[in-house]
Amino acid sequence: MKLAILGAAGSGKGQNTSRIAKKYNLHHVVVGDIVKAEIRNKTEVGKIMYDFTSKGRFVPSDIVMDVLAKQLNTFPEDEGFIIDTAPLNMDQYNKMVSLVNLDAVISLEVENYNILRHRTLNRLICPSCRGVTSVTESPDEVCPYCGEKLEHRYDDNLETVNFRIAQYLRETVPVLDEFEKQGKLIRINAELSKEEVFSQICQKIDNFFAKKSLK
Ligand SMILES: [Zn+2]
Repeated sequence: MKLAILGAAGSGKGQNTSRIAKKYNLHHVVVGDIVKAEIRNKTEVGKIMYDFTSKGRFVPSDIVMDVLAKQLNTFPEDEGFIIDTAPLNMDQYNKMVSLVNLDAVISLEVENYNILRHRTLNRLICPSCRGVTSVTESPDEVCPYCGEKLEHRYDDNLETVNFRIAQYLRETVPVLDEFEKQGKLIRINAELSKEEVFSQICQKIDNFFAKKSLK
């Protein structure tokens, strides 16, 4: 199973990806983490990437996709993975198609942007175990997984949320359309409750691969 997951900030990507990876026994590949690790380890490509990020610029798609492909190539052929979050734009998509052949892409869809705004502004993260929860679920602001004091992400404010939503519509939605044309898109209504969203994902993944195996 070679999957990618896409969704706007607040669509529930982090939590659902962890659960999907666990349930289907997949490597959980976080693109941002690979980039950060290369920079931290000061590899050749890490130094080039640092040049961009330190100036507040995006790392070019071909560099990001190369390090992603390198990571995927370390997995044995019979082991699956789920990529969180790529390809984010058509540039990454065009580079990625020559490197990775995905079976399916899961799209977490929220049409009511107020839900995205509310979830993002309500979000709490754990600096220690990186668990994600919310003000509603953890009003004491203590991590339910490890007991650490929870924090808001520094850039979770209304202005950046609106910016991320607009960017998602402009840059990522065209990527979804491409996967749709190839019959690889699994659309999920991510406005529902956590448990409803996750069971919907599992059901649709199971159906998708059951149909695929019949072909
Ligand atoms: Zn924690």
